[in-house]
Amino acid sequence: MIPIIDSKRQYATVGAEVEKEVVEVLRSGSYILGKNCKAFEEEIAKFLDVKNAVTLNSGTDALHLALRALDIGAGDEVITVAFTFVATTEAIGIVGATPVFVDIDPDTFNIDVNEIESKITPKTKAILPVHLYGQPCNMDVIMDIAKRHDLFVIEDACQAIGAEFKGKKVGTFGDIGCFSFYPTKNLGTMGDGGLAVTNSEFLKNRMIALRNHGGAIRYYHDEIGVNSRLDEIQAAILRVKLNYINEWNKKRREHAAYYNELFKDAKDIETPKELDNTYCVYHQYTVKVPNRDEVHKLLQENGIGAMIYYPVPLHLQKVHAHLGLKEGLLPNTEKNTKLVLSLPMFAEITEEEQRTVAKTLIECVEKAKSKVSA
Ligand SMILES: *Cc1c(COP(=O)(O)O)cnc(C)c1O
Repeated sequence: MIPIIDSKRQYATVGAEVEKEVVEVLRSGSYILGKNCKAFEEEIAKFLDVKNAVTLNSGTDALHLALRALDIGAGDEVITVAFTFVATTEAIGIVGATPVFVDIDPDTFNIDVNEIESKITPKTKAILPVHLYGQPCNMDVIMDIAKRHDLFVIEDACQAIGAEFKGKKVGTFGDIGCFSFYPTKNLGTMGDGGLAVTNSEFLKNRMIALRNHGGAIRYYHDEIGVNSRLDEIQAAILRVKLNYINEWNKKRREHAAYYNELFKDAKDIETPKELDNTYCVYHQYTVKVPNRDEVHKLLQENGIGAMIYYPVPLHLQKVHAHLGLKEGLLPNTEKNTKLVLSLPMFAEITEEEQRTVAKTLIECVEKAKSKVSA
């Protein structure tokens, strides 16, 4: 069995360091928002080259509190995509705003920047692009549209820590960038964790208040906040792993290049494309194949842990049924939902395993073809 991700293998490389730091936290008596959180906020701000980093409980909270900090709520519209994890639009729903969906560019799976302006209305407050699978969106175009229409930009960079557009880290272009440290992300902790980053002192202070019951001073509360504090154990683990993220992302890129090479003569398998001037961090290595569901089934039977991210686009999910959106609204989103297949991808995967994945996929695509036509 070759899994889509193998967290145990990563642990084998950093476990000793992590255990030492975690024991220190346990002995310290300081468990929430202590010195490790503070140090991690400084270290990751430096890594991303952004002024302020605010640790939170999850990537979902980062999106939620980013919207709150920008006073986006009932009656407001936020332009985003349906080809993403549900947390993106869930956060918009939590604050009472309405997601307005733009189709994707089928080459990058990211927001089609040419369609954004046609969706802007007097109610539009923000654009929320998602750097899906670790592939950067075209931030030049998005920032230009936002500037001309006086809109905020919140980046969902939960899958893209360390990715760059024209040499600048994603998550640092807009007003606020959101990251997740869920265990399977490129920088994952051993529980839940998240981060919001901003160059604005004002937005930083608002998110610091919102994450801790809506008050900057303990027991004085200015507004309804939440409890979204990061704990010291997670921060200590993240400080260890941050030292490895460049190396891990580099390995993911090498593995992606090797997969591309292995598939170069397989004409039915469409490999991922990269935008010019970007540094993709391959949170997922996602191909497009015909008869995808049959191929997926055959791969599973043959011990390859492929996954479909995501099987139902968000505009057609029950959670957004009240918006009354119908199939046909987002043709590229709907079409690609039926084609995508993410293959095993993690820093420690071996070339031999990659060759097995590639060979098995090529065989399964052929088998599925004859099965479907039979
Ligand atoms: C993981 C993820 C989130 C949510 O992060 P959590 O830490 O799991 O709450 C949001 N958006 C995208 C695109 C993600 O991949």
